[in-house]
Amino acid sequence: MARSPTLGISDEKYRHLYVVMEHEEGHLLQVNFEMLGEARRLMDEFNSRYSSEEKVVAILLGHEMRTQCDKLISCGADAVIYADSPEFKYHRNLIYTRVISQIALNKDCSKKISAQYGDEFQRPRFMFFSADDTGRHLSATVLAELDSGLASDINKLVIDDIELKHEHKTKGQVEKYNKTLEMYRPDFSGFLWTTILCLDNRHPDNRKDYHPQSCSIIPGVFSPIPSDSSRKGIIVDFAAILKPADLNVKILSRKAVKSPIDFDSHKAIVSFGRGINESPEENIALIDILKRELDAEVGISLPISKKPYNISNSKLSAYITPERVIGTSGRKVAPSVYIAVGISGAMQHIAGMKESEFVIAINPDTDSAIRDECDIFIKGRMEEVLPILVEELKQLKAIVEVRS
Ligand SMILES: Cc1cc2nc3c(=O)[nH]c(=O)nc-3n(C[C@H](O)[C@H](O)[C@H](O)COP(=O)(O)OP(=O)(O)OC[C@H]3O[C@@H](n4cnc5c(N)ncnc54)[C@H](O)[C@@H]3O)c2cc1C
Repeated sequence: MARSPTLGISDEKYRHLYVVMEHEEGHLLQVNFEMLGEARRLMDEFNSRYSSEEKVVAILLGHEMRTQCDKLISCGADAVIYADSPEFKYHRNLIYTRVISQIALNKDCSKKISAQYGDEFQRPRFMFFSADDTGRHLSATVLAELDSGLASDINKLVIDDIELKHEHKTKGQVEKYNKTLEMYRPDFSGFLWTTILCLDNRHPDNRKDYHPQSCSIIPGVFSPIPSDSSRKGIIVDFAAILKPADLNVKILSRKAVKSPIDFDSHKAIVSFGRGINESPEENIALIDILKRELDAEVGISLPISKKPYNISNSKLSAYITPERVIGTSGRKVAPSVYIAVGISGAMQHIAGMKESEFVIAINPDTDSAIRDECDIFIKGRMEEVLPILVEELKQLKAIVEVRS
């Protein structure tokens, strides 16, 4: 992939960056502001580089939430397309997919957002979703409906002009792809970055456009821009068209299920990952001792929840459960002390514990990403470090007891 000089293209049918908002019972989620912050940074640079005036457009579906559109403008949106209905109060994937797809293809909305590009507009140029459980599902179904591509779990974005030669995409010829969204995702626990491109197919036998170029973004990765209530923007009300079949699934009652694992009432959380794998049962027993010494709760990394080990002790095997996963696929925690034992520090895990006040990592690999996220890095194998730590804690406790 090579960089090429910027080319001027006048007749573009793809415009703007649309960002899909999420809320829970009418409360906007923090990830919205993170996505808007990154969208603002990208589009400011885009507009100055390409001398254009493309917009950051937030899409919000909800009920009686119109007053919250101003907040989205204060935090980076140039426009908010807002659809209101009692049907949108709670997320239902089928309905949300229908309406968001309608919005993405709607010319009238785009004309209201920008008269300049309204006539030529066919679809958004780029689209962002959150990479939480809701956004991952929604992004896949919306992009299937729009018949374009999607990269999931992204934590770095760049817009650039590239040259590419590909057997299927370009019939082996070098082609220029301007204004391409390069979407980076951490793979293999963050040891490898994959760049994902969603490119139009220029092969003469199989031409096809793939827009919007879309991705879901890991919560907690990007920073919001400071809120500025003097920022100006427009709110476009969208009247969605729903067919009776779209409403087949009804919410008759709703009950929030409380997790059986109470992370919030513990000051410390001890989490373990695949670093236990040399002798899983013995190592979980060590974790259990530390947990009891600290009166901590136990968390795990995602791969552990897939039950890769045979643990005969039922008390210890009870720690291996999806409810204990910390990260984008599990819980977000913010204890006073977070101890990561045998965890490499993949982005998806960090997103779940980065609000912790004090982080200690135990890991023999000084190159592991968790090193950048912790206050104390103990270089060593858990088998050796944990018994020493427990012994120290016992002695400290004894001193405190004697003094009191
Ligand atoms: C869509 C998606 C969503 C995801 N969501 C989540 C999520 O919510 N939460 C999550 O955790 N992951 C999630 N992941 C997985 C994530 O990318 C990583 O693969 C995962 O976090 C790695 O788990 P780990 O740190 O336990 O294992 P590894 O990356 O294998 O790390 C093991 C670590 O243990 C260390 N180690 C080895 N031996 C010892 C020893 N004796 N003592 C101490 N340390 C030792 C190693 O040096 C290494 O750093 C997700 C991935 C995807 C693709």
